[in-house]
Amino acid sequence: MPEAAHLSSTPASDIADRLGRPLRDLRISVTDRCNFRCVYCMPKEVYGRGFRFLERPELLTFEEIERVARVCAELGARKIRLTGGEPLLRRDLEQLIVMLAEIPDLELTLTTNGSLLAKKAAKLAASGLARVTVSLDSLDDAAFRAMNDVDFPVARVLAGIEAAAAAGLPVKVNCVVKRGVNDDGLLELARFFHGSGHVLRFIEYMDVGATNGWRLDDVLPAAEIIERIDAVLPLEAIEPAYTGEVAQRFRYRDGGGELGVIASVTQPFCGNCTRARISADGKLYTCLFARRAHDLRALLRGDGGDAALGAALTAVWGVRGDRYSELRTAATDPLPKVEMSYIGG
Ligand code: SAM
Repeated sequence: MPEAAHLSSTPASDIADRLGRPLRDLRISVTDRCNFRCVYCMPKEVYGRGFRFLERPELLTFEEIERVARVCAELGARKIRLTGGEPLLRRDLEQLIVMLAEIPDLELTLTTNGSLLAKKAAKLAASGLARVTVSLDSLDDAAFRAMNDVDFPVARVLAGIEAAAAAGLPVKVNCVVKRGVNDDGLLELARFFHGSGHVLRFIEYMDVGATNGWRLDDVLPAAEIIERIDAVLPLEAIEPAYTGEVAQRFRYRDGGGELGVIASVTQPFCGNCTRARISADGKLYTCLFARRAHDLRALLRGDGGDAALGAALTAVWGVRGDRYSELRTAATDPLPKVEMSYIGG
């Protein structure tokens, strides 16, 4: 279904927060584990041998995930993104995809580091996944291996992207840009995906979590990213596909396809944020930068039925006033924030 179509309709049951924002997107983390140790996300010093990941009984089951997704869809959610950690590490994920794909009017997508995609793409597509986003921070093998910090070769991620496309899955490629680390490879990435049919998106490095030592100087502003690409591959801005779309869209003037930037730091988009996140153990976060979460697992495992779950979700969303990125100052807030690998990117 085209995304614009469903967002324009507002059924009576749709919920809204204090700033009038509906709940449209649900990001569900299916595991807090990852096979990469990207230096800016899950640095080895923190996520080493001694790190305590969630145990199996702590994770939401597929039935619990399906239930919360279905209730959220009844409250207005139109898109689900499975994430993590690395979602393809969750055993039998295809089964969950089959279950979620049965919920009407819900677009089902997944964000992955691509490491297992070559093996799994066909099965994911057959299970009902609508599209996939692959994270890829560099095409340079040495730089890529250094960034994922587990010496994983870039060629295998590229093979995963090819396998996804061959399975009929539309592909987006997300590159987080950290100044002085991978910004020298932006043009190479743009050239590589120019004309490929895959949409490349550059994401400003954000101050999520507390383990990556974020500084504003590390951020390469989206405007500068566009300037650098435009100088070589001329671009023109295009309209957002739907209200609340976080990426600013551009197209190559020579017809080589589309490119996006997500300026979460320099041009925050909290006013349009229609997103909720659920951690692998069932905590609901109404903002990527939230400090407080709401325990959905207790509700899911308690006596209340779907009506009680819906009422709780409506109440939590109803008091939501988060707009962290608009309030952020040049220094990141020193108070502890939740880690991306736990809450899901
Ligand atoms: N493992 C999956 C993957 O690699 O896409 C899903 C989870 S990962 C946390 C989701 C995305 O968050 C990745 O694209 C990652 O690069 C991005 N990410 C992690 N830390 C970030 C940060 N500080 N700023 C911006 N993006 C970040």
